[in-house]
Amino acid sequence: MQPFAGLRIVVLGLGRAGMPAARRLREWGAEVTAWDDGEAARAAAAAAGIAIGQPKGFDILLISPGIPHRRPRAHPLAQRAEAIGAPVLCDVEFLFRAVRAAGSRARFAGITGTNGKSTTTALLDHIARAAGMVVATGGNLGPPALDMPVLGDEGVYILEMSSYSAERLDEARFDLGALLNLSPDHLDRHGDMAGYAAAKARVLVGNAVSVLGMDDPLTPAVPHGARVVPISGSAPQKGGVWAQGTLLRDDAGVIADLSEAPSLPGIHNAQNAAAAVALAFALGIDRATVGSALLTYPGLPHRQEKVGAVGGVAFLNDSKATNADSAAYALACHDRLVWIAGGVPKAGGIEPLARFFPRIAEALLIGQAAEEFAATLAAHGVPHRILGTLEAAVPAALEAARRTGAPAVLLSPACASFDQFRSFEARGDAFRALVAALSNREAEAA
Ligand code: ADP
Repeated sequence: MQPFAGLRIVVLGLGRAGMPAARRLREWGAEVTAWDDGEAARAAAAAAGIAIGQPKGFDILLISPGIPHRRPRAHPLAQRAEAIGAPVLCDVEFLFRAVRAAGSRARFAGITGTNGKSTTTALLDHIARAAGMVVATGGNLGPPALDMPVLGDEGVYILEMSSYSAERLDEARFDLGALLNLSPDHLDRHGDMAGYAAAKARVLVGNAVSVLGMDDPLTPAVPHGARVVPISGSAPQKGGVWAQGTLLRDDAGVIADLSEAPSLPGIHNAQNAAAAVALAFALGIDRATVGSALLTYPGLPHRQEKVGAVGGVAFLNDSKATNADSAAYALACHDRLVWIAGGVPKAGGIEPLARFFPRIAEALLIGQAAEEFAATLAAHGVPHRILGTLEAAVPAALEAARRTGAPAVLLSPACASFDQFRSFEARGDAFRALVAALSNREAEAA
């Protein structure tokens, strides 16, 4: 298969997605030159036999999602592409073209939105596998697009689409698309909300079925495909899928009781589940399979992930909550808890979380944000202590839970992790390891 024979493609960015892209495109006949501003990445690619350079002439530029091609500042290779009229594309565009060039009618489902993309993607993958479908799931989450197999007609691609990838689609048309929600994000790259929404619309335009979140005013207004299935985490949607309390339902009745789905707590996950169910129905999966698969969904790490229980106190890792909005969803799931928060704070701090403060038995603060968060909590009369690090906060949290009778300890930092960790994943992994060590110490003591 040589769908890109003779095309001169420059791959910019040789990380998680870029390296497999360079290799795959070469296998598929393209003349590939690759570039990365980091010397180590260039050396690794050169060692794998990939030509390195910044050519003046080429046909297509493939850029990794993290590198801007317009705002805030275009990479020099993107400026060059603009000057010579070469399109700037993402890896999903190439996957789509290769699959169609192979004559396959495999379906593509694209999932996008400001929040809940990964959860909805992983949940749809789980449901589709339970139904015995041939699926390849990835994109922003999991394997990058050009590490995925070329599926036959019966196959389904389930792709998590960030706005950064979506804005670099061209001929690709998703058979099914879901836009979960839309709130201001990544505006440095997209310019304004209109630009951000236009990027997301690329996942919907041309769909046979577009699943649209109705819980915010912006989502329903985004250009979309022929048939709309409305979804909501809280309000009835004629012809759609919604949650009535914990009951997920459509016009025909109840599909599942989400209170029996341990990995889908909260109204935000009801929205994600509604979207995954609407997509599953559009794929032709039957009601009974969808209903039972919801209850066995294992969840993703770092999103309210239960990492242990010590002496009856549950420890939950919500390290993915890097802003107050995300932390709010996790706090809303608990009536009484010990809260570990802090890191690199976002503008506005934790004041927007004040409605949850009465639930907090004690807050334990870490990282750069500790002083600022302590001031906010003090102003609201919330018990708190500055512990500085996760190492100190985890044992203190168990002690606080025992003293106050709180049944849960929640790490939901409402902050980025970069002051103390490489990533939110590293922060969550550290928390998991500290809880395991604490659990062992407690077991030995007993
Ligand atoms: P994404 O992939 O879009 O970043 P995730 O599924 O990884 O989303 O969820 C990340 C965090 O965003 C969760 O831990 C939760 O705090 C919040 N979240 C998840 N789903 C939603 C939703 N539907 N609406 C609002 N916030 C959500």
